[in-house]
Amino acid sequence: MEQVLELKHIHYSYHTLDGETPALVDISFSVEKGEFIAIVGPSGCGKTTLLSLISGLLIPERGLIKINGKYLMESTTNVGYMLQHDELFEWRTIYHNVVLGLEIQHMMTAKTRQRAHELLDFYGLKQFKNSRPSELSGGMRQRAALIRTLVLEPDLLLLDEPFSALDYQTRLNVGDDIGQILRREKKSAVLVTHDLSEAISLADRIIVLSGRPANIRQTVPLIFDLEQDTPLNRRNSPEFKHYFNLIWKELNTDD
Ligand code: ADP
Repeated sequence: MEQVLELKHIHYSYHTLDGETPALVDISFSVEKGEFIAIVGPSGCGKTTLLSLISGLLIPERGLIKINGKYLMESTTNVGYMLQHDELFEWRTIYHNVVLGLEIQHMMTAKTRQRAHELLDFYGLKQFKNSRPSELSGGMRQRAALIRTLVLEPDLLLLDEPFSALDYQTRLNVGDDIGQILRREKKSAVLVTHDLSEAISLADRIIVLSGRPANIRQTVPLIFDLEQDTPLNRRNSPEFKHYFNLIWKELNTDD
């Protein structure tokens, strides 16, 4: 299998005037092409730090990170992000928000413009292309934010608690919706979340981190016997409860 992302023996500590705060200890894992990985762990354990290292915002103290077989610093692979807040600009229409990344990266061509329109049409935002973000629901805004990321054709998507700003009901629907879009588009993704149900309903594999400094406690492949493997069907399956109990126990064991 082709590996999109590889982390080997990553260590990271924050250094402040008060001293050293170790955040990550000996983290190793990889993500295959088209695979959806979720990383769960207690609040403050180092999940966002891990994404910052993968995105190159922070440099590991020890260890290596490779994307598509190349060291991170030499990699030209396009990495996309989806954050807690959709960060859409009110002074731009939805269409102009969606093509913002293309404009900044000088990638506006007839082909990429067409792709932006196709994605907006296909994912139910056709009538909202000329609307302002405030005219859309929270879920639609997150979908627009995802399309803005997808038009850049990222090989790897990093999702940092992308649904946590939404209310519970919307969060379930949007999480399922975004999960299905990513599967249809065959994207490799790393989702960081403290919501175990969300992780189980979306991912192929879950990496369970310990409390800070985080190391990997367990890796759990998720296998569901479903005719249609959708997030909603997963939530209603007997396997869901099994995985929930298994990982919940792991998260709440002190040692
Ligand atoms: P999570 O995303 O799992 O909630 P973070 O990766 O944001 O956790 O943070 C992990 C730990 O690193 C936190 O407990 C915090 O103490 C520490 N930390 C995070 N950012 C900084 C920083 N800029 N300076 C010093 N310590 C930090």
